[in-house]
Amino acid sequence: MKVLHTSFECYPLAKVGGLADVVGALPKYLTALDCHTEVIMPMYDNAAMQSQSYHTVYNGTIRLGNDPYDYEIKEITSAGLGFTIYAVAIPALLYRPKPYGYHDDTERFLSFQLAVLDWLCTLEELPSIIHCHDHHTGLIPFLVAHAHAYEKLRTIPTVLTIHNAQYEGYFSHDKMYLIPSFDFEKAGLLDWGQSINPLAAAIKCAWKVTTVSPSYMEELQQFANGLEGLLSHENEKCMGILNGIDPDVWDPATDPMVITNYDSTTLLEGRAKNKEWICQEFGLDIDKPLFAFIGRMVYEKGADLLPDIVSQTLADKDVSLLILGSGKHDIEERLEALKPHYTGRYNTYIGYDEKLSHIIYAGADFLLMPSRVEPCGLNQMYALRYGLIPIVRRIGGLKDTIPDIGDGGYGICHDQASVQDVCYSIGRAVELYEDKEQYQALQERIITIDNSWNYSAKQYRELYKSLNQLK
Ligand code: ADP
Repeated sequence: MKVLHTSFECYPLAKVGGLADVVGALPKYLTALDCHTEVIMPMYDNAAMQSQSYHTVYNGTIRLGNDPYDYEIKEITSAGLGFTIYAVAIPALLYRPKPYGYHDDTERFLSFQLAVLDWLCTLEELPSIIHCHDHHTGLIPFLVAHAHAYEKLRTIPTVLTIHNAQYEGYFSHDKMYLIPSFDFEKAGLLDWGQSINPLAAAIKCAWKVTTVSPSYMEELQQFANGLEGLLSHENEKCMGILNGIDPDVWDPATDPMVITNYDSTTLLEGRAKNKEWICQEFGLDIDKPLFAFIGRMVYEKGADLLPDIVSQTLADKDVSLLILGSGKHDIEERLEALKPHYTGRYNTYIGYDEKLSHIIYAGADFLLMPSRVEPCGLNQMYALRYGLIPIVRRIGGLKDTIPDIGDGGYGICHDQASVQDVCYSIGRAVELYEDKEQYQALQERIITIDNSWNYSAKQYRELYKSLNQLK
């Protein structure tokens, strides 16, 4: 069996969020299970991709409407990820610093998908499964099933994984001319809400649809930005498979990004050294419990609650808070504006910094995840792996991975994405922190929890096998 994953992100070559971590790790675990897995992604103009070595395996041309675009498929020979990975080079459209956020994203997403399919048609050995991630590659299941040019791929089962249903990638019917010709009776499969909707088309056309946690799958039947009816209708082919983490990349004993490495036997000293660095760097008091947030500053993550959480917490609790993230400017500005009021107790780093995130996992005391929506969430699993206690809202993957300490679990949980609930949880965390024996015992316990891909990769392999039997 040969599986091809198509994705706009893959760690460490291009990362915006958890999608990159999943695509950068799951294929390695599948390959180790004798399920040969390859990845294809766009070629970006970023440092991580510029520093790689490449071997061109194919040159071709696609058409977006009347416009021809030459493309190159390059195997990345230096990535050392434990699986084969290809980059699609289309200089005019894909070779940009970031994966998304451009006025012509629709054309960019389409060009990538057309180049992948065009190239696949030239191969002698076709993949047994094409696995698409999010709406950026969501037109592939439709195109494989119905576009005239890809007849050769017709019987290949397609899988869609929804990492985040907030983004559907829809665009106007005016751009229908960009889509290669297909049996026009099938046009309805592209449509949802009077737009061409790649996520909806993938939900309709993929042979199987997975989400990144079982709870998120259930939640999507109720709230999915207008796709809930479709997801309920397609329920039979949907399943939730919890993401895992790559314990080779996320290992406090070997992580090259942290200040001091540690394992379960040197946890306390090692974490203290990392905390010391953070407190020096951000002017915080090492003796106070340090609460951190790492993530995109968007409504989904509950980041808009952070300014009030900071003010209310610091009004009556002797703790420190550190926030790492970027996103909505109004949230960033509100968080920055609070700094002069709480010098020595609160700080921020507005931006994306992979190294700093690792040091925070290794040195903070509690991680705040007040998410409104959390398809799986990787931060809480990284936190456990580094001995950092997560404070989470019971939603999506957070609900599936973090049981509350009151129920014999290892996190602090609350039900609402509200300032009140989060502040109440912070109060519980302070009590826990003051009970040094219980606090340290919990840290020693969480660092041993296995959230690696081992289990979930087997579930994907079974899913692929079942699809191959259906062919
Ligand atoms: P999402 O994909 O919705 O953003 P996940 O929890 O699945 O959320 O994954 C987030 C990943 O991105 C984690 O690896 C987290 O450490 C990382 N991350 C998010 N924001 C930042 C940031 N500002 N700097 C460094 N890493 C970040």
